[in-house]
Amino acid sequence: MPEKMSKGQVKQRIEKLKKLISHHRYLYHVLDRQEISSSALDSLKHELYKLEQKYPEFITPDSPTQRVAGKPLKGFRKVRHKVPMLSIEDIFDQEELRDWENYLRKLKPEYYPFEYFAEQKIDGFGISLIYEKGRLKVGSTRGTGTIGEDVTQNLKTIESIPLTLELHRKLPSKEIEERTKRLIKESEIEIRGEVYMDIKDFQRLNEKLKKEGKRTYSNPRNLAAGSIRQLDPRLAASRPLKFLAYDIVTDLGQKKHSQEHEILPALGFRTNKSKICKNIDEVIDFWKKIEKERNQYPFEIDGVVVMVNDNLLLQQLGVAGKSPRGMRALKFSPKQATTILKDVKFQVGRTGAITPVAILEPVEVSGVKITRATLHNEDEIKRLGVKIGDTVIIGRAGDVIPEVVRVLPELRTGKEKKICFPQRCPVCGTKLVRPEGEAIWRCPNLDCPARKREYFYHFVSAFDILGIGPKIIDRFLDEGLIFDPADLFLLKEEDVSHLERFAEKSAQNLISAIQSKKEISLPRFIWALGIRNVGEQTAIDLSEHFGSLEKLKDASLEELQKVPDIGPVAARSIKNFFQEKRNLKLIEKLKRVGVKIKQERGISPGKEKKKGQSLKGKIFVLTGGLETMSRNQAKEKIREAGGRVSESVSKKTDFVVVGENPGSKYERAKRLGVKIINEKEFLKLLKNI
Ligand SMILES: [Zn+2]
Repeated sequence: MPEKMSKGQVKQRIEKLKKLISHHRYLYHVLDRQEISSSALDSLKHELYKLEQKYPEFITPDSPTQRVAGKPLKGFRKVRHKVPMLSIEDIFDQEELRDWENYLRKLKPEYYPFEYFAEQKIDGFGISLIYEKGRLKVGSTRGTGTIGEDVTQNLKTIESIPLTLELHRKLPSKEIEERTKRLIKESEIEIRGEVYMDIKDFQRLNEKLKKEGKRTYSNPRNLAAGSIRQLDPRLAASRPLKFLAYDIVTDLGQKKHSQEHEILPALGFRTNKSKICKNIDEVIDFWKKIEKERNQYPFEIDGVVVMVNDNLLLQQLGVAGKSPRGMRALKFSPKQATTILKDVKFQVGRTGAITPVAILEPVEVSGVKITRATLHNEDEIKRLGVKIGDTVIIGRAGDVIPEVVRVLPELRTGKEKKICFPQRCPVCGTKLVRPEGEAIWRCPNLDCPARKREYFYHFVSAFDILGIGPKIIDRFLDEGLIFDPADLFLLKEEDVSHLERFAEKSAQNLISAIQSKKEISLPRFIWALGIRNVGEQTAIDLSEHFGSLEKLKDASLEELQKVPDIGPVAARSIKNFFQEKRNLKLIEKLKRVGVKIKQERGISPGKEKKKGQSLKGKIFVLTGGLETMSRNQAKEKIREAGGRVSESVSKKTDFVVVGENPGSKYERAKRLGVKIINEKEFLKLLKNI
């Protein structure tokens, strides 16, 4: 939310948030359509909730925080819930969780310390089941929270919903057991839980619907909801729906919520993974553990539900708005979030490219606090239509780079400012150029201090010189110790040791770290040169094709274009690079100061390649952390086997290797139907070489 707002502005913002949220909720819940991600929508709802907490005078009954979603569909009999089906307030980080505990402690100090019950939160469709004399009588949707739709016939088609209740095993206490037996026989028992669909089933079904030219669904939850809320039970029966129970509404003598999770399986229901937590730290541990494991489950989990385990306390804490005070949904780090764009800075890259960078109100995305995000280029600013002061949705491109995904113009106040793209380099003042057909403005000054600095950063990382980061480079440059990368190899201990904060020992380490990297492979050397349009993979392709720097240097445009994936643009920039005198001079100087290119076996042209061929031509994308090797080692292994590594998932991708905490690449792979393999399968694939 914007930092400082007057009361009038707060009121205005609340009004706009309500309208926008209600629009997207309607799309999502009623039309099963999605224009912004559910995490972005959550983010907006959360801002509204926080503003309303701070300014309760602005809460109105029509606020999305005050009611539960959905209207009963016509055509279904209405069912009034005896106990309202509430929803749960979301929490996004540990700080908020601890605030919640402090809040409860103030309300009910006599119960502190609290015991908690935490369980996986499955992204499903909430329903209520009423058993009369042990037989399923009414199954209904949440609906408005007080009035739902009777979907009994559809629910009866779900195999994991027992049609009759019986005790399959012993219950937590004799008292509970006797009472339960009696109620099964004579009275009514109400169970609540979620109908859901496994991810694989969802994909298969969507694929089928697409082929038949029918409408598809944006996620498993919507498909599950769509299957339950239609009038022909045969359709529901044809869909692989499942049910997980999480709550017993009826008093069976249970004192703690955890006991309900013992009773439910005994009655024949599946339950979620859960844990009794002695304190809030244990809740956090459980939350983190489930987030780590989330991709191992066949269904979508979007967080953990935590509640005070004592049912009497839960009841006494009561309800605020639409949700119980003693219960919260701990969401996983959102993949997208909304925030305010405060300013735009223009950064100069090593090739002179000017990148507009959004300066943001800090916001957490995928577990990382984000304060800046790339706006890529001038065209992107135009495409987004973004202005300074706008509310924007932030995501992370390729799991890593924060970017502005979308602007929410509905939340504008009229005070937003247009972003002016500079005409001159913000660092050296040279007039910027934008060659025809290119999206990027560049500073053409080869001596531009900003370009030089960025080039140094790139060079040391390509040479993999450990212990030399941007800070040390900045220092060396500012002290006038280095003018070009070759100077690094001429540095002596005494040059460095007199600098403040460089003890003799660390100076020595630094110098030997640099010296130890004098020998370098050809692809790394080519990459280090910083030729425009030549990334890591292209450098590998070039060195495989030409085998030596000399041959690459002399290659004609036609020869260059024979290399796979090298088009006319890249060929031209390679040719230009080697025609520039200062570049040739730098290469000469690097050799003079002792840099040596390692001749690798088997990559000279014309000779039989010694590399494996088993993964030849296969394109891999890595996402998430691997257990048995680093990402670089994995890339190396793929390349050794003849495969290629790409940074982004497309239809051309053959395999996406998914490790721990995968990001948006994983989602994209699922959407595109690219083959997804885990680490074990990946290792197996490598072994077969
Ligand atoms: Zn410049």
